[in-house]
Amino acid sequence: MSTYTVTRVRKELSADGTHRHLEGVITNTNTHWTRGQVVASINAGNTWRTSAGSHSATITAVHYCPRGTCLASPYIKTNPNSSQLDNLENLPEG
Ligand SMILES: [Zn+2]
Repeated sequence: MSTYTVTRVRKELSADGTHRHLEGVITNTNTHWTRGQVVASINAGNTWRTSAGSHSATITAVHYCPRGTCLASPYIKTNPNSSQLDNLENLPEG
């Protein structure tokens, strides 16, 4: 099994236009993965982590975007859901 390190994220406008949510991630090897690809990799037993400065957190899969009634699925989040730089939603976009 492999460990992937996420350093940046890509966001998109939600279907209802009310917010921007994660479209996918970019790893430290500069590879773009969609949310669905990350979730499939997690489900296959691989480990996904964020990295920001000295902070790091594990990425887990959730069924839906946490914003309102957004049905974007599957979705990913950091666990525990940190307010620090390592929170998936706080990583720089790139
Ligand atoms: Zn959403």
